[in-house]
Amino acid sequence: MKLIRPGATIGILGGGQLGRMLILAGRKMGYRFVVLDPTDDSPSGQVADSQITASFSDVNAAKQLASLSDVVTYEFENVDAEVAAQLESNAFVPQGSGLLKITQHRVREKTTLESMDIQVAPFRIITTEQDLRTAVAALGVPCVMKTATGGYDGKGQWVIRDEQQIPSAFAQAQQTGLELIVEQFISFDKELSVVVARNLQGEVKAFPVGENIHVENILHQTLVPARISQEQAEKAEKMALQVAEALKVVGLIAVEMFLTKDGDIFVNELAPRPHNSGHYTMEACITSQFEQHIRAVCGLPLGDTSVLTPVVMVNILGEHLDSVMSKIDELPSTAKLHLYGKAESRKKRKMGHVNFLSSSVEQAIEQIQQMGIW
Ligand code: AMP
Repeated sequence: MKLIRPGATIGILGGGQLGRMLILAGRKMGYRFVVLDPTDDSPSGQVADSQITASFSDVNAAKQLASLSDVVTYEFENVDAEVAAQLESNAFVPQGSGLLKITQHRVREKTTLESMDIQVAPFRIITTEQDLRTAVAALGVPCVMKTATGGYDGKGQWVIRDEQQIPSAFAQAQQTGLELIVEQFISFDKELSVVVARNLQGEVKAFPVGENIHVENILHQTLVPARISQEQAEKAEKMALQVAEALKVVGLIAVEMFLTKDGDIFVNELAPRPHNSGHYTMEACITSQFEQHIRAVCGLPLGDTSVLTPVVMVNILGEHLDSVMSKIDELPSTAKLHLYGKAESRKKRKMGHVNFLSSSVEQAIEQIQQMGIW
């Protein structure tokens, strides 16, 4: 079985914060990195050995990345199919493009999950306003219309609370020119996620389940341990492991879920890469999700995923950055600050995060409140 030893070069498609944190973890292990990103001095480019500055759809740039790399990985899922094919024929891309095809498209993703007997929110594919009316009547309100592709952090989503909202919501959605679906609204008790790694040899390991709190559809906090029963945590982790094994993932996959009051779990989304809700692992676990991803795609044995301390991860968005900077000397000694080196700070843009390590999740939440930033 293939083993990519330290000293080798890992190519990363995408120069964002996920790539940056992958590189910071991999450099400690002795790997070298080259990234491809359209923006010069990208968050990953700043810490990589080199950056190719080109568009993600530039097939020649992808070829160049492949020629410089012993293994290629990606840090986002909207990889152009032609570029993925080009990389696969010119380089070792253990994550493959099959999984991308599934996770890029909500219908394929949901159908695949259903074929594994995993519950997803009931949904309908729609193309006309009349389809939307029929779907809303069948699914009930509230429901959520989503673009089948390209959405993230709540972009490409419209909550429909009553029938009168149908025409304007449909008009807005139609402007995207993308395929659309409508999903039943799951009145969840908690949002959870589990990050799982599977390596080239087929070894799998899950990180402890995180409890996620979103604000305006963007992840705000991840709490570990999640405030759920042992039984629920085991069920969530088992489900995520099942997904990783069934899809023969290589690398990481994040499984986002809704947990209802009755203890039912619905899978909402899959992300075949490091995930924001796994950032807590950086200091709170024996192995971080980033180190684990590198181990997995290089064929090294997976690291221990045990959690060492309760933790709350809180995201720093553009609107929080100035306050974080001005109160940097007030952070508790067990708070770990991560900033992504993005040149431009914008509202809702992820600029960094802080892991508040504490004796309990409740205490970490209290520390966060005391900062008066979020
Ligand atoms: P998504 O882009 O699908 O991950 O959705 C972003 C966020 O919107 C989720 O984390 C939920 O907070 C909310 N959301 C999305 N779909 C649903 C749904 N079917 N029912 C309830 N909440 C949802």
